[in-house]
Amino acid sequence: MKPAGPRGRRQTRLAGTPIVPGIGIGAVTFADEPALAITRQKIAAPYIAPELHQFEAAAAQSRKQLPRLNARLAGLPDAAQAEIAPLLDAHIHMLGNSRLMRAIRTAIAERLVSAATAVIDITEDQAQAVRNGPRHGDDGAAARQADEISDIGRRLLRNLTRLPFRSFADLPQGSVLVVERLRPADAALINPAQFAGIATEEGSAEDHTAVMLRAIGVPAVLGIAGLLAAVRQDAMVVLDGEAGTLIVHPSPASLDEAARLRAVFARGQRSLGRLRRLASETLDHVPIELQANLELPFELPMVAQSGATGIGLMRSEFLFMNQDILPDEDRQFATYREAVLAMDGDPVTIRLLDWGGDKQSDGPGAELIPNTHETNPALGLRGVRLLLQHKTLLETQLAALLRAAAFGPVRIMIPMVCCLTELIAVRQAMLRVWRRLEAAQIRLPAEPPPLGVMIETPAAALNAATLAREAAFFAIGTNDLTMYTLAVDRAVAGTVALYDPLDPAVLKLIGMTIAAARQADIPVSLCGELASRTGAVPLLIGLGLRQFSMHGGAVLRIKRAVRATDSRTCADLAAAALAATGAAAVHALIDGAAA
Ligand code: PEP
Ligand code: MG
Repeated sequence: MKPAGPRGRRQTRLAGTPIVPGIGIGAVTFADEPALAITRQKIAAPYIAPELHQFEAAAAQSRKQLPRLNARLAGLPDAAQAEIAPLLDAHIHMLGNSRLMRAIRTAIAERLVSAATAVIDITEDQAQAVRNGPRHGDDGAAARQADEISDIGRRLLRNLTRLPFRSFADLPQGSVLVVERLRPADAALINPAQFAGIATEEGSAEDHTAVMLRAIGVPAVLGIAGLLAAVRQDAMVVLDGEAGTLIVHPSPASLDEAARLRAVFARGQRSLGRLRRLASETLDHVPIELQANLELPFELPMVAQSGATGIGLMRSEFLFMNQDILPDEDRQFATYREAVLAMDGDPVTIRLLDWGGDKQSDGPGAELIPNTHETNPALGLRGVRLLLQHKTLLETQLAALLRAAAFGPVRIMIPMVCCLTELIAVRQAMLRVWRRLEAAQIRLPAEPPPLGVMIETPAAALNAATLAREAAFFAIGTNDLTMYTLAVDRAVAGTVALYDPLDPAVLKLIGMTIAAARQADIPVSLCGELASRTGAVPLLIGLGLRQFSMHGGAVLRIKRAVRATDSRTCADLAAAALAATGAAAVHALIDGAAA
């Protein structure tokens, strides 16, 4: 029998994907979705097709979400499964070719209303009709069916409007934030001092939200199956961001244990601090450069103190999130210059905007991404492809970067490159902007900054030798490289087991990239989440990597791993991993090496 929590409630332990280590003890708070401020809208005939298209995309998105939830129910206790599974089945059925969906399409096409208006009107009508319909002895069943229709309506509207949760600020201090799904733009709004922990039902370790949460540093577990069904507002919970668990209604013994673990964790963090002044080198004195990734500006002081020798990846997407207008050149310049000055002479690698894929915009950027609502945005217009189609966007950012480079060593990095033509096109744009700024006598560095590329598509890795002829440096982005190599979505929790950067196929591409960079004598770093995995350090060193870039909070932990590694044994480990039968065999190899 399970131990009883406070007031006799049963303790329940849920499991998800560990994202940010640390123990959070607190009361559950839900982030209410902002009220969907949708005004009913009539549309003109030419807008019927685009509105239908948007509706179909939202429906497709909803159909994708539900089986994902369903697939993860297996981890729940039987009773909870029995309760939730039929509900999800009913929702999946209703999102198919149901009367509800047909009526919404007809409303758009014949009543000439927007997709959102049609969803509101039709779901309200049908839910009402069910409530008022003939009774067959079970009033509860009709009410439940009506609620299901309203739920479907809410899901469709959420996917149609893509509104972020903007109401975090008023939530109670020290609580554990529970949401179904957190998007990168939502995560960017979280104040790290506010929450003891963050738990979501959807999400996976390498999606962009996870990257954001690591930057924020609040203990977090994503992808907890059955989370929303298991917790209520104000329920006491213990979140363990290292074990990836959430205990609901913890017993007094579990609470004591959590408080003990929290103290152990805090002591561990303090002891890491002593490494700050020690060299980052292996046991046999091979220097390994450790740089930091920067997600959000508030990390700057922490990154500057992290023991990192520069910023290996400053993502610029945050500047474009939750904005009403695109940031102009001066606004961008001020932000980049701040980072350059804070790093006090250490290099700052700033990546051009990587919009698209799982990094979606709600504000002005949304119009720039024509495939925002398509079912497969990761394969659409993203990163450099988008920038090359929006010259003003690209050139505004380049101008801001060139100006910031006058204040310290800046490197400019291009995302989502596949081939040399893209690098050359960006370089031409950069030189055009340089000449314009020079003519206007704007303060610039002595020469244009190094222009390098992310290696995050299999095409780029395969073209690495060609790219290395023109690129000033490489940064390997294993988050995307893994997704595109293994054909597994990095943001889909249901496929987490298939997504593994330690798969030999990904390792081969990493190895090829490092070899091409060395051959051409250009620097190469790895800035995906793999760089912060302690167990992978000897393997990556064995593949020839000498420069890692990771979220600031991981730098000292990785330094400790580097200092415990003998590089002379790493090459054999890497060779064995490249020849391994699959990711599981690579895990066994690195576990064996660590033992
Ligand atoms: C990557 O893909 O590994 C990477 C660092 O870029 P992002 O996570 O921002 O896509
Ligand atoms: Mg990437």
